[in-house]
Amino acid sequence: MLQTAFDFCVTHTEGRARRGVMKTAHGEVETPAFMPVGTQGAVKGLTHRDLEALGAQILLSNTYHLYLRPGDDLVARRGGLHRFIGWPKPILTDSGGYQVFSLAARRTITEEGVRFRSHLDGSSHLLTPEKATDIQAQLGSDIAMVLDECLAHPAAADVARQSMARTLRWAERARARMLALREAPVAGVTIANPGQAQFGIVQGSVFPDLREESAGGTVAVGFEAYAIGGLSVGEPPDVMYDIVGATTPRLPQGRPRYLMGAGTPEDLVEAVARGVDLFDCVLPTRNARNGQLFTSEGRINIKNARYAEDDRPADPGCGCYTCRTFSRAYLRHLFVTGELNAATLNTLHNLNFYLDTLRGIREAIAFGRFESFRLAFHQRLSRRSHDS
Ligand SMILES: [Zn+2]
Repeated sequence: MLQTAFDFCVTHTEGRARRGVMKTAHGEVETPAFMPVGTQGAVKGLTHRDLEALGAQILLSNTYHLYLRPGDDLVARRGGLHRFIGWPKPILTDSGGYQVFSLAARRTITEEGVRFRSHLDGSSHLLTPEKATDIQAQLGSDIAMVLDECLAHPAAADVARQSMARTLRWAERARARMLALREAPVAGVTIANPGQAQFGIVQGSVFPDLREESAGGTVAVGFEAYAIGGLSVGEPPDVMYDIVGATTPRLPQGRPRYLMGAGTPEDLVEAVARGVDLFDCVLPTRNARNGQLFTSEGRINIKNARYAEDDRPADPGCGCYTCRTFSRAYLRHLFVTGELNAATLNTLHNLNFYLDTLRGIREAIAFGRFESFRLAFHQRLSRRSHDS
């Protein structure tokens, strides 16, 4: 049986916060880590060179999009995602489930999987736990996610229970398929990355008892690591923090914990305080393209008229290329005239803010001053009101 190249080591702890190193087939990732989202194999507006300069150690890519276009067969023939997109560092792929539930038209969920029509051309597809595993094997990411059912918020307790139970049955099938792929060749599936790891996903909406059952069941199936899914979907932040805080103690100490799709900078700090190691979110990149900048003193909307003659950098406390070089007045001008550079410069800044926040968190944990970092972080943000 092929051995996965995956490993994880906690190097420092403070309270429930952990600092560590995650080893993958394409290198190491210092945790807690934030994964920029490169939906189509690219972070919109940036080159990989920009990402390396920002210190990004791992990228997230979306299986749904790459499966539909250019197709996992084409990527496998190019030697896998790393070679195809020219990014030699770690990559995590999601299962495709989230986009099927949020983007695709006319989806039908059965025990077998989820049938959907492509948002591009209306073609019909069936995504099963096995199929999601096969597609990611062909993409060759370093970390593959199991197919889970993504519930909308709010969900009734009985609906959430059925959904959680189905996700657990799907997790068993996805793991069985993964182990079969590691054991022996399967016709029609090219293994682009023999060192690929597979993460299970805890579901259960906002119900602590369902989360507990889901965590126990998922850990019993046995994955290289575990994610907390189904949060950051519209529930109040305090509810999310409570569920995260109730779930992480039920996951193995020696494995990374990944909070999927979260969140704001405040969410990241609070989740780290509850023992989370990995994050991804479209907020820094998507909001950058809409002109919203995250700063150490809150969010600003660069399109506001009040910045028309503001000669200060976007964030005086930031050392990124955008803040070292350009004024708010110029960034606003680029945005209102629709220059492509507006997306690039805003995205550079926002990703730097997120990655820098995580660097600060890792350093603070190493020196045993994460609690004071957390306090100062929230105090700075609350000192001024955000732009609308
Ligand atoms: Zn900056």
